[in-house]
Amino acid sequence: MEAVLLYEGKAKRVFETDKPDEVIISFKDDATAFNGVKKDSFADKGKVNLAFTKHFFNLLQQAGIKTHIISFIDKTSLRAKKVQIVPLEVVVRNYAAGSLCKRLGFEKGMELKPVLCEFYLKDDSLNDPILCREHIKYLNIATEQEVAYIEQQALSINKVISSFMDSKGITLVDYKLEFGRTSDEEIILADEISPDTCRFWLKGTMESLDKDVYREDKGDLVSSYKRLAEILGLEIN
Ligand code: UDP
Repeated sequence: MEAVLLYEGKAKRVFETDKPDEVIISFKDDATAFNGVKKDSFADKGKVNLAFTKHFFNLLQQAGIKTHIISFIDKTSLRAKKVQIVPLEVVVRNYAAGSLCKRLGFEKGMELKPVLCEFYLKDDSLNDPILCREHIKYLNIATEQEVAYIEQQALSINKVISSFMDSKGITLVDYKLEFGRTSDEEIILADEISPDTCRFWLKGTMESLDKDVYREDKGDLVSSYKRLAEILGLEIN
């Protein structure tokens, strides 16, 4: 029997399972940028991004951070707890890049100390606008305590991943996280962590090994992701 598709996003599909509290998430080969304006498909992208997500989520679980992942099924799919995604894109920035430079004129590469944590509304029809805490409260997205918890988790995640990347000669510039609410109202890390959702630079340079390669037409996306995987020692095939 065909699994029932619950949701299809830009880079993933979510399927029902025989357990009401569990889903199967399958990673697609599609890439999009600029809110879906630029769209392409790249062979192997799904399995490469799943390999990064597997590695990073395993590191986080070892560090005691709760995530939605239950198990990995094959090269492109995983089993996860079914959550209601909190409609926030939580962006953590160690160095200035991307929209921070375009929108606010920050100098690219400027170190951000203390680390900057921002919230954007996850709503393509509004172009994911930036939110302040009061907006989050008015929109009934999360309570003040939940927002504080999400920020604290996002910063703990930063410590784990940036120190791992640094040990491999890579700078974690910024990244986006999504959190979900379980049926018992617990907030846990969801979605993925991959070069699609993070900026990675070769240490001491601004050479990108992430989706900026695609956004800015700087080379072949999957080759850059595979190069990063090799630097990190990840098994892809
Ligand atoms: N990001 C993401 N999905 C989005 C928007 C941003 O994964 O819909 C990631 C992006 O890859 C980068 C970080 O969040 O690592 C910060 O992105 P930024 O706000 O600079 O926006 P962008 O330059 O992607 O427009």
